Amino acid sequence: MKKTDKASESVVFFDVDDTLLDTSKFVETARKSAIDLMVDNGLPLDKKIAYSTLKTVIREKGSNYDKHFNVLTKSLLGEEDPMLVALGMVTYHNVKFSLLRPFPKTIDTLIYLKSQGYKLGVISNGITIKQWEKLVRLNIYQFFDEVITSEEVGYSKPRKEIYEVALKRMKADPEKSVMIGNKFLEDALGAVESGLSAILVNSHIKEHEREKIKRENLDIKILESIGEVNTVL
Ligand SMILES: [Mg+2]
Repeated sequence: MKKTDKASESVVFFDVDDTLLDTSKFVETARKSAIDLMVDNGLPLDKKIAYSTLKTVIREKGSNYDKHFNVLTKSLLGEEDPMLVALGMVTYHNVKFSLLRPFPKTIDTLIYLKSQGYKLGVISNGITIKQWEKLVRLNIYQFFDEVITSEEVGYSKPRKEIYEVALKRMKADPEKSVMIGNKFLEDALGAVESGLSAILVNSHIKEHEREKIKRENLDIKILESIGEVNTVL
């Protein structure tokens, strides 16, 4: 059959972090383990204070900066300590990767959506390789046809540009497509403003946001977790 360029596919787009996996929890545990070992090996600070100092460094430099531990040792010791930096980095990565797994019922949900005829994609504010890396480590990469990121598009969710690129890339009909994510503004509002419907999972949605959904009759459903997606799709 001849392929057409017509936007006709039903696509379920997913956010990655805190939607497919509990990124925030894994990252926190990994950072604390790294700090514990650095303090045990000579970083001259109370563990709690060292952890909050690291968080300050991450806030200032951004989470995708790759020299947080260098900056931390330099600010505390006056110069970088290569052994402590290596210890922090290796511990952080080892702990994170050993814990990394999808939320319960994620794989069941992806299999279910495929069986219902949906194509699957990712729309993420992040670095393309890093987001693919997470899908590969979780062993769920085979389910996804495309990963569209803010790095690639040059605009972050909730901007329309990133949704438009994603819809076009997957030949998705917005009226038959859905965005699933954990953030009200980026994932839900961004999606409905681009003509998709949206599902929020693991969200910390605020009361005024719930009221906005009702008042404006927005096509946003709120679920506890990804495991409930099969009740609405
Ligand atoms: Mg997220």
